[in-house]
Amino acid sequence: MVMLKTLRSPLYLALLIPALLALAGNWLIPVDHMFLNIRSKYGKHEAPQSIVVVTIDGNQNDPDGSVVTTRNLARILDDVRRQVPYRVFIDAPVNYGQDKTGDSALVEAINSLKPDVSFIARNSEIMRDSEGLNVEKLQLPIPELSKSVPVVISSWSSNFVNFATSTPYNFRINGHTYQSLASALAEVDGGLQKTFRPDYLLDPDSIIKIRASALQSGRVTPGLLSGRTVIVAFEGPTPQLGFYGSARRHPLDLDIAGASALTKTFAFWVEELPLLLVVWLLVRFGSLSERRRSKTLWHASAVLCVFAIPTFAQPFGFYIHVSGGLACVTIYGFARLWHYRTRRIQLTSASGLPNLLALSASPLPVGQDVIVAVIARDEEILATLPKELHGECALQIARRLGIGSGITTIYNGEGGHFAWTEEARPLEMQIDHLEGLRALFSVPLEIGPHTFDTNIHFGLDRNEGLDSVTRVNSAVASANDALASGRAVELFEADRLAEATWELSLHASIDEGLRNGQIWLAYQGQWDTRTGELCGAEALIRWNHPTRGPIPPDAFILQAERAGRIEALTYWTIEEAITAALALNANGQRLQMSVNLSAQMVDQPGLVPGLAEIVKRRGIDPALLTIEITETSSVRNRPAAVSNLTSLRSLGFRLSIDDFGTGEASLAYLADLPSDELKLDRRFISRILTHERELRIVQSTIELAHALGQVVVAEGIEDEATWRKLIQLGCDIGQGYHLARPLAFSEFEKLSNRMRLPLVNKR
Ligand code: C2E
Ligand code: CA
Ligand code: CA
Repeated sequence: MVMLKTLRSPLYLALLIPALLALAGNWLIPVDHMFLNIRSKYGKHEAPQSIVVVTIDGNQNDPDGSVVTTRNLARILDDVRRQVPYRVFIDAPVNYGQDKTGDSALVEAINSLKPDVSFIARNSEIMRDSEGLNVEKLQLPIPELSKSVPVVISSWSSNFVNFATSTPYNFRINGHTYQSLASALAEVDGGLQKTFRPDYLLDPDSIIKIRASALQSGRVTPGLLSGRTVIVAFEGPTPQLGFYGSARRHPLDLDIAGASALTKTFAFWVEELPLLLVVWLLVRFGSLSERRRSKTLWHASAVLCVFAIPTFAQPFGFYIHVSGGLACVTIYGFARLWHYRTRRIQLTSASGLPNLLALSASPLPVGQDVIVAVIARDEEILATLPKELHGECALQIARRLGIGSGITTIYNGEGGHFAWTEEARPLEMQIDHLEGLRALFSVPLEIGPHTFDTNIHFGLDRNEGLDSVTRVNSAVASANDALASGRAVELFEADRLAEATWELSLHASIDEGLRNGQIWLAYQGQWDTRTGELCGAEALIRWNHPTRGPIPPDAFILQAERAGRIEALTYWTIEEAITAALALNANGQRLQMSVNLSAQMVDQPGLVPGLAEIVKRRGIDPALLTIEITETSSVRNRPAAVSNLTSLRSLGFRLSIDDFGTGEASLAYLADLPSDELKLDRRFISRILTHERELRIVQSTIELAHALGQVVVAEGIEDEATWRKLIQLGCDIGQGYHLARPLAFSEFEKLSNRMRLPLVNKR
């Protein structure tokens, strides 16, 4: 898997594809030819000045212009000889055998040039056979004379666009060995099998060429031909041949370029792989380097090398194929562009964070939960913030989530959604972990000059095996559910359908449970830190379901809220708790009774009259009842909630802010919420002995709460040391398993009777 992924990265594709193309049959050769052609236009050098071409015009004597008369050629050769050349090559078709006097004049002219005279035979078809390079049909120029005059051959192998590529040193034809013109001109012999390429940097326009007519009329500098190699050539309709860097040319130009190549000490052809490797290394350094500038520099130098190395090396005799390197940078460039394009689609524009599309684009790792966090009041926050701070807001939230969960990649979706994947811990641990994350949002967000209180809700998907898109969507849907219901975490289960039947029947089962005692209240004691005496209790709901067993309140309160049964359940709880409080306080005690109020009910218009009616009817002092509220973020109508709470307080009820520090009930929020008591969340309390940070939060919260006239309750005290520490910190009231577990009423009553006699001083 990892290996495949590596191989699919742009970096390795840019190495593999060109290498495979090069190895699997030179697919890149056309590219090399193209670049060789371009490159060879520059850095040209002069042709060897030791060679002179004397051209005979086609129509000089012969009306049809395709051959030279023997008489005319004889005269030209005589003129050449008079200048005492070094050697003479004759490259002309003649009408031998048609004019006796002309023929003998030619024989005489040639004889007087001997031994430094040769005929040139042309053929464009070269074949290879077992004996070496072979020309299928060789037309000897003047068969009658060729027995006594050596013949050299001009013939070039060419590529698919008919550009000359190479010629051998020698040809073997019908048992005879003929030298190639180029090697004869260079006077170099390399054997039968070997071939060589022309010198493409030779400038064919600098070959000395004079007209035969000018020579005959004496218009040529005397001595121009002296000591030089002279080629007497007929400029008939000779086939044109491609010459890299010089377009199409007379084959003679290539023969001279071939000779020039042979006189160079060095000519080395480098295939595409070496440059590919060099360029790839540069690309690789670029992609590995951290800093943007050096990245760009490496990449630019890779591109530069593709063109510069072959161009500058060519004059020194190194012909380097560019195609490998070129394919490398092209593929890498395109792959990066593609990558960049998809990345752009997968980025949230404001924050620059990858978006949810990016998360769902690839398979999710095994053993991971998908978690989506949604910010409460996201729209409100964004509406308040100027547009340029929107990205900063998202980044700040992502940073908090990142710090809290140790995750580096957080995806940012529309509507205040943040997503990531995390190791799938046991469910309880995972939910605990997420609730811990919520605590990080008790500190207001500070974006520029703006401060926001916010709250966060989580959707969790643990359906491994489903595809990424479904999982991300499920987590988003669950997060939205959590936001709507005010729950911290919603779990998306594939078997939610099965759950639906349970939800539908909940209406009936809650009523049934209330009637037959399956639903009951447990009471957890609260102790005064100063006196060490029991001072109150929190009523906690319990359900022993006949088929499902004991259901934790966290689970069924949510269901009751969804099923619209929360109100009935709450009023029943209050009535039941009042009954308990009246019984406990019957002989003059004043134990506080705390009840939990669902966030769904806080803003309801019937709440205040409902509670007022109950206390009046039951004849209980409302000051003995403490109403705990949490999750104010999910309250739909905030002003109504604040007004309800204010009214309840003026009726004499005590108000307590539950789970302080985890939800929106942050410090800044305290100011506008009427309350008498703060309950520090157990996630803080359980860590004060081990974590400096939580200790500081608890310490400063106690101070601030006291300054605001609030009573501070610590819940979740699980050991003696924590209890002692809280006493030392000045906390007012303690609650937790160490002091007492939630107990059935009869048990709690016994406990309260024991406590009335101050036997144990907790201090
Ligand atoms: P809560 O209001 O924060 O209640 C405190 C929870 O902490 C209770 O869980 C209690 O059993 C648990 N607890 C107490 N001492 C310790 C301790 O030392 N260590 C640990 N680890 N836990 C401790 P419980 O009873 O499962 O209740 C869970 C939540 O369900 C409550 O959290 C409350 O939000 C909700 N709830 C319970 N009863 C009612 C109710 O009658 N009405 C409403 N609306 N919500 C209720
Ligand atoms: Ca509570
Ligand atoms: Ca609590």
